[in-house]
Amino acid sequence: MFDILSIIPGKKKNTQSGWTSFNAICCGFKGHKPDQRMRGGVKFDGENWAYACFNCGFKTGFTLGKSIAPNTRKLLQFCGIEDAQITKWSLESLQHRDLLDYIRVKKQKSRIKFQDHTLPAGELIDVNNKKHDTFSEYLLNRAIDPDSYPFLITPHEKGRNGNRIIIPYTYKNKIVGHTSRFLDNRIPKYINEQQPGYVFNIDSQKPDWQVCIVTEGIFDALSIDGVAVMHNDINNDQAMLLGSLNKPIILVPDRDTTGLALCDKALELGYQISLPNWDTGVKDVNDAVVKYGKLPTLISILQAATSSKIKIELQRKKIAKRI
Ligand SMILES: [Zn+2]
Repeated sequence: MFDILSIIPGKKKNTQSGWTSFNAICCGFKGHKPDQRMRGGVKFDGENWAYACFNCGFKTGFTLGKSIAPNTRKLLQFCGIEDAQITKWSLESLQHRDLLDYIRVKKQKSRIKFQDHTLPAGELIDVNNKKHDTFSEYLLNRAIDPDSYPFLITPHEKGRNGNRIIIPYTYKNKIVGHTSRFLDNRIPKYINEQQPGYVFNIDSQKPDWQVCIVTEGIFDALSIDGVAVMHNDINNDQAMLLGSLNKPIILVPDRDTTGLALCDKALELGYQISLPNWDTGVKDVNDAVVKYGKLPTLISILQAATSSKIKIELQRKKIAKRI
């Protein structure tokens, strides 16, 4: 909408406490001596921000979804912004209210329901069973512990049902879908039975975990203990389900064009985005875990997580060049 820090003129300095300081622009207008000691500050909380002047005491702020407050209008006017432009931003902000309300209401009153689902026949994978070796090896090659999830396999089935790993989808410990990954070269590689709004691995998210890592694919999610949206969009029901976790969400998109497009939706939903500086051959989280290991991958994801549109745009451009 508008970036207050680029509107306020002059030098800026970031402080330890999270404020960005500058020479306040309000004081002269409020009948005080102009500030020359960087006593103005802006502090962000997501899209929202507060302005405070420790010289003349002028205070105001901005909340996405609300109209621009009279003092903020003044502040923008002090910076030379025209009234018509301020009114336009105010209306734009109000337009965000519907989306924000929607997410808030859904969070409070979760009516998330999925139909029960029957799984195809299969047996639980057992790493000590020689007949299961192909399946265990497939998972281990993808850096996934076969014991980390109730994988079902079909070592005795023939034809289309043979040679597959069945990955049950659960919600509150009930089966609500599944995917089959075929280990031979048949197409399609996956057969999915997924209900709209479902987010894979949501049941495995522990309440004491600080963040939730959102990926695109099942194996990405499994290899980092994250969740998967399983296509290159996050629909409203999925956003609601993710919102019910009540914790910061970090999207790690695939490093392809559709993955990078997913960033826009994630930003709109207030998620952080992480595009770590991985090697060119690494196309997704699972590739990274295979190449670097789980912990280094997790650290790189957490370190690169940001909600700064400018940073994300720069990283996105860098990656897009390589695609
Ligand atoms: Zn002031």
